[in-house]
Formats: sequence, structure tokens, C-alpha cells
Amino acid sequence: MGILFGPGGNSQSFYEAHKSSLDAPQWIRKQGLGAYEYQCVRGVNIGEAMAVKLGEEAVRNGIALSIHAPYYINFATSDPALLVKTKKHLLNSLRAARWMGATRVVFHPGAAGPDRVAALERAKEGVAQVIDQAADENLDDIVLAPETLGKMSYLGLLDEVLELCTLSPTMLPTIDFGHIHAITQGSLTDRQAYAAVLDRVVGRLGEERARRMHMHFSPVEFTAVGERKHWSIKDGYGPDFWPLAEELAERGYAPILICESKGTQAEDALTYQQTYYAAIGA
Ligand SMILES: [Zn+2]
Repeated sequence: MGILFGPGGNSQSFYEAHKSSLDAPQWIRKQGLGAYEYQCVRGVNIGEAMAVKLGEEAVRNGIALSIHAPYYINFATSDPALLVKTKKHLLNSLRAARWMGATRVVFHPGAAGPDRVAALERAKEGVAQVIDQAADENLDDIVLAPETLGKMSYLGLLDEVLELCTLSPTMLPTIDFGHIHAITQGSLTDRQAYAAVLDRVVGRLGEERARRMHMHFSPVEFTAVGERKHWSIKDGYGPDFWPLAEELAERGYAPILICESKGTQAEDALTYQQTYYAAIGA
């Protein structure tokens, strides 16, 4: 299986003709895409019956499903009550993933706070507890995929995410290139810069996991403190996908690549897919 491209959530153009996400898998297939990241960013509000139906639609249309867990997750918290809620958000995401047959759950690790080393240690402990609980519920085949984030105030630097992924051999990093571009003040300008990111994943987690990693790619505006806002390709913001397409083509990697452009996530995912096809000479 090669790279699968798809939208995070639904494009504006989808909502012009459809109301329910149950229509999304078929719509996405008709666009020529192969993946869909279902957004639970405001909480896991989808019920079992609906999730099962969505999963059936995804199977029928050959769409790989992932879930983006709630934004309220903060594994770096030292507040026990917030940690309980955090674990619940991630476990509920895993349960919803099971209902719909989603194979990956993306989550933001938490806030960096004044001491990001201590924050990372707390986060590792909290995520390890979720891994244990997930195993008890037979949810441990679903990939937990912490995401690289776009601001220094968040826990989510590339090395922090890779460190979290050492907690379990089934975890995979979500490499968000827009976020990495933002937090490094626009460093992703050529193939070498992308290769360095991929090599870091290989160095820490090995080639086999690197090949299957989860990716987010979206045009992003940034300031001195990092990410400001996601845009559409047509708005002219970087990073440029072409050098990454070339690098992925040469390596033969097979990630799931989700586009989170503002309102045009499916259209832009298709543009990235076409760019990738051009890079492999298809
Ligand atoms: Zn995210």
C-alpha cells in the first residue's frame, strides 16, 4: 500500500451538498482520495451506532479512517482532576476508533509549562496509564499518534513526540510539517530539511515505523512564537510540498497524510496527492 491522502474534517464544498459525515467516505472516494481523519477535537460526541455506520461507509468506499482526539487533552498537567479528564478523552477516542474501525488516534500531548522536561516526564506517565487501560479493553492495536505542534508553549517538539512514541512499539508519531515549519521559523524550504526530519524519526523509532508514520500537511502562517493560522494552498503560505513529495517518493514511504487546510482540506489533499504522483513519475 502506498501513501494515502485525505482531509482532516470536512471541506466547505462537502457541506454545500451534505450535512452528515456519514456521506464523507463516499464523497472522499469520489474526489479520488483514500483517507479521512474524523475530528473529535471538541470532544468525543459520536455515539456507537453512528460510528459503526461511518465505519461501514469507510469500508465500502475503501477509506482509511483515523480520529483526531479532543484539544482538551493535557498529559503534562500536574492537576489530578485534569489528568483524569485527559485520560478519559483519549480512551473515549480509542473506543470511538474501535466502533468505526479507525486504526489511528492523533492527539496533542499537552502544555509545556515552565519546565518542559518535567512536563514530558508527566506526559509519559499519563500516556503509559492510557496504554495499560487500552490493553485491558483490547484497544491496544489502535495506534496512538502524538502530534508535533506549532508553538513553544505546547509539548510537541519533534524530539518530545518521538520520546513519547518510545512508550509502546505500536505508537507512531504524527509529523505535522506545517507545525514544524512554523516553530522553526520556516525551515522546511528544501529536500534536505525534510530529509532531516524523516531521518530523526528513523534514528529514534527505526525505519519500519518511520515508513508508516502519520502526517499532517497544511499551509500555515506563523509569527515569532510559531503557528498562527492554517490557510489554503491558494493563499500562498508554505511549506512547499514538492520537496517532501520527492523525498517520500525516493524512500518509498507509505504514510497516511492528512491535510488540515482551512475549508479546502480535501481539495488541497488532492493537490498534494497529484504532486506526489508527479514526483514518482506516475
Ligand atoms: Zn492536531
